[in-house]
Order: sequence, then structure tokens, then C-alpha cells
Amino acid sequence: MAENERKAIEALLARHGFHFSKSKGQNFLIDRAVPRAIAEASGADSGCGVLEIGPGIGALTQELCQRAGKVVAVELDTTLLPILNETMAAYPDFELISADVLKVDLPALVRERFAALTPVVCANLPYNITTPVLTKLIEARCFERLTVLIQREVAQRICAKPGTAAYGAFSVFMQYHTAPELCFEVPPERFLPRPKVTSAVLRATVRKTPPVQVADEAFFFRVVYAAFALRRKTLVNSLMTAFGALGKETLTELVVSCGLDAAVRGERLGLEDFARLAAALQAAQ
Ligand code: SAM
Repeated sequence: MAENERKAIEALLARHGFHFSKSKGQNFLIDRAVPRAIAEASGADSGCGVLEIGPGIGALTQELCQRAGKVVAVELDTTLLPILNETMAAYPDFELISADVLKVDLPALVRERFAALTPVVCANLPYNITTPVLTKLIEARCFERLTVLIQREVAQRICAKPGTAAYGAFSVFMQYHTAPELCFEVPPERFLPRPKVTSAVLRATVRKTPPVQVADEAFFFRVVYAAFALRRKTLVNSLMTAFGALGKETLTELVVSCGLDAAVRGERLGLEDFARLAAALQAAQ
């Protein structure tokens, strides 16, 4: 079945003289069951306004339009616009914005386009900009849920627990702001062209209140990023990169005062440990 769908998509692309761009992360879904499952996982319904990033030729967009109150898609590649005009013609509640999502004012978009609807994001992201896009979506502070198809390794990193090799500063960032879950995997043969990696659907429900109390978020994340700056070194050595002015001895005392081993590595610390450490470091500044 996917074979027939692939041929129909190739014919559509050929008719429009479309050429894939690697730098725009273009890997289109060719098995209808996959966008259907992603749209289902997003929980989009008539009360939702969905922002899709990179609609491509509209495979996921159509599924979202069948469920959501409104769908707004932001697409960078202008050569896809005539194709989308064709594939999305039957959906009046769809709006296309021709732009780079990294340059769009998202809170304004939500205010102006989604009015009384619950804003959520659902997208098969261009993999080369996964981290900046997710960061921007979180920092916009206007979406309730992000359901995204991304590289499996990145999804695993986002969900990783302390003490594992996959755990890092971005895991802490995502777990502080959201409750992330890996929903299901998507193999390379479900895309045209096939990516080299396996993909996975991540659903990140944005937290209304943070899981730990933090007095100064910007400072908290300075500590988190410093803790992972030198992964193979101890937490104290890694913290020296950003808080060296305090001196190694004081940093060691502060780490120990938080109930941590003087030789602990940053990757062992959970959100609560980071919150305690940030408070201690800020008080010592
Ligand atoms: N949603 C389609 C699908 O699932 O078949 C296409 C997904 S493809 C992985 C990524 C899409 O994002 C492409 O259509 C690409 O042109 C678009 N894109 C890449 N960079 C973008 C950016 N900065 N802003 C908006 N769209 C972008």
C-alpha cells in the first residue's frame, strides 16, 4: 500500500517539477497510516488550534485538518506552495504562512489566529533544526502540547533519566518545562527520500508549574549548561568553566553542602539537585 502512495507522491512532485532539499530537512511521509497516528497522538480536536511546522506536501496537514478547529502551517520552501494549494484545497480551516519558523513571532501568531482555541503544535520537524525549534516553541510559552516526529536519538535524549549516557542539558531543559513521552518509532522506509536514521514521535505536555522550585530560571539553566560543559570531568571541574571566579575549593564546598559527592559528575544530577545547587551558587555569588 505504501508503494502505491509513494508512486502517487512521486507523480505529484514530478508534475510540479519539485526537487528535494537536504538542507531544508525534507523527508516526506509516504505511508498515510503514519501521519494519521501522529495526528491521533497529538490529541488535536475541534477545540484545538494546531501549528504545524513544515507541512511539505500536506500529508500530516490533511490529517490535522480533519480533527482540529484550525490548522496554521509555516513552510519555508516556496516551491511547495503550489503543491499545497492543490493538496489542501478542500480544507477551509487551513492557513499557510510562507516563512522561516525560527523568525516567526509565535505568541502573536497564536493570539491572532487561534483566539479561543487551545494552541498545540504537531509536526514532522526538519531534523537539522530540531533543538532550536523546540527551544523556541517552549520559550514562546503559548502551547499546551508539542507532538513532533524527530530523530529517535534526540527523542531518547529528551526523555533520558539522570545517570544515563543520553542525559544532558537539553534533557533537563525539556523535562523542566514539559512532561515528555516517546510515543512510537517510525522506520526510514516510511519516508521519501529515506533518512539515514530511525525516527520517533515525541509528545511533550507543557507543564503549568515547574516540577521544582527555582527562584531564577535564567541562572538555573546557566548552572545546568555549566554542569554539562565538560562531560568527562567532575561536576566541580565542569562548573569552573562558568563559575571559576568562586574558586575550586568554594565550588566543592557548595556541591557537598547540597548533599552531593565532591567527585560527582553533572550527568548524575536530577532536577531537584540542580535546583538546590543553583540556589546555593546564587547565594554565594
Ligand atoms: N510534514 C511533511 C511530512 O511529514 O511529509 C514534511 C516534513 S519534512 C521532514 C520538513 C518540512 O519542513 C519540509 O517541508 C521543509 O521544507 C520544512 N522546513 C524546513 N526548514 C523550515 C523552517 N525553518 N521553517 C519552516 N519550515 C521549514
